[in-house]
Amino acid sequence: MSNPTISAASSTTARPIAIVGSGLAGWTVARELRAVAPDAPIVVISEGRGDFYSKPMLSNAFALNKSVDALMGVPGPAQADKVGVQLMANTQVLSIDTATNTLHTSAGEVAYAKLVLAIGADPIRLSMPGDEHVLSVNNWDDYAAFRLALDAVIHSERASVLIMGAGLIGSEFANDLSTGGHKVHVVDPGERPLANLLAVEQSHGLQQALSALGVQFHLGTTAQSVQATPQGAKRVTLANGQVVQVDVVLSAVGLRARGALAQAAGLAVGRGIHVNELGQTSNPHVFAVGDCAAYASAAKPELFGGAPRGLPFVAPIMTAAKAMVKTLTGVPTPIVFGPMAVRVKTPAFPLSVQA
Ligand SMILES: Cc1cc2nc3c(=O)[nH]c(=O)nc-3n(C[C@H](O)[C@H](O)[C@H](O)COP(=O)(O)OP(=O)(O)OC[C@H]3O[C@@H](n4cnc5c(N)ncnc54)[C@H](O)[C@@H]3O)c2cc1C
Repeated sequence: MSNPTISAASSTTARPIAIVGSGLAGWTVARELRAVAPDAPIVVISEGRGDFYSKPMLSNAFALNKSVDALMGVPGPAQADKVGVQLMANTQVLSIDTATNTLHTSAGEVAYAKLVLAIGADPIRLSMPGDEHVLSVNNWDDYAAFRLALDAVIHSERASVLIMGAGLIGSEFANDLSTGGHKVHVVDPGERPLANLLAVEQSHGLQQALSALGVQFHLGTTAQSVQATPQGAKRVTLANGQVVQVDVVLSAVGLRARGALAQAAGLAVGRGIHVNELGQTSNPHVFAVGDCAAYASAAKPELFGGAPRGLPFVAPIMTAAKAMVKTLTGVPTPIVFGPMAVRVKTPAFPLSVQA
């Protein structure tokens, strides 16, 4: 049967395996697939440039003494050559037609044999006056913009930064920015950092170690508004009435899995795109992996009523991608997550937590 759509991905009649997203999940699936299927047509579609880099290093850059440029791993085209796949960069997937197995993208239609969604998560934004003055870091470009904002502080070499959120990413940035010589404030509604993940003694140990670096904690309160002064400083008003003036405000209040694209296509979505033990969504031709996915394999009766759950970390991506690639190439293989310790990159008080 002839292909009713014009495939922007391939001029051959064979439909490719299409991977949407060029983060760690997308590139890991592409690499693992290529290793077991040397001749399969594979296309990676990304709304970004497709660059391959280590996202975890972004919250560890000062400790590693890395410049922004040094954090850039392999540019998209070189990565595509290395892995041996076609890359459609700067191409947004707008919708998925699961009846015809076709993607509608900003560069035209792409017919697929199988689809892997690796579209990540969005930083959660707090709706408050002045939110437009708040930065967040979820990719290399965000981090480059953040470092530019720090470098733009000309009144002193030491910028002051208010971090909203004392979770994993907020605590890591607090440690790293202090190491880089910057003055850090951390605001969190909880009574201690990483309250959801750490025992009380560990949490207090972390707070003491970061305080010894000069980090100022504002706990049990939240940021309510941000106002920019004519000189470019940011005045952050806290719920407890305090006003903290800093150069840069960074939000690290969490991520929300990108589910809208899948939901609009009629796929099951909860705390992420639901996938079964094989990594398959509610459509058997469509898979999901990485920060966008909620895995049945990670469900626990005591968490979210036993619903599929997200694991927004590196190790689960590796585990899920390896199993999924076997399934994609004809050997149905369940994703089995063992115990996963995530290292918290706070050198002042090294820790690990269970994912
Ligand atoms: C600062 C920071 C530090 C971290 N440190 C650690 C750590 O130490 N240890 C750890 O285990 N984890 C860490 N993590 C988490 C880990 O980095 C992530 O779990 C992982 O990188 C997620 O990869 P991903 O490919 O699922 O998503 P992403 O990297 O978000 O990639 C999503 C991709 O999808 C593309 N995309 C989205 N929508 C579309 C669309 N409609 N069309 C086309 N393309 C689209 C995006 O452009 C992007 O390329 C950290 C995260 C951050 C932010």
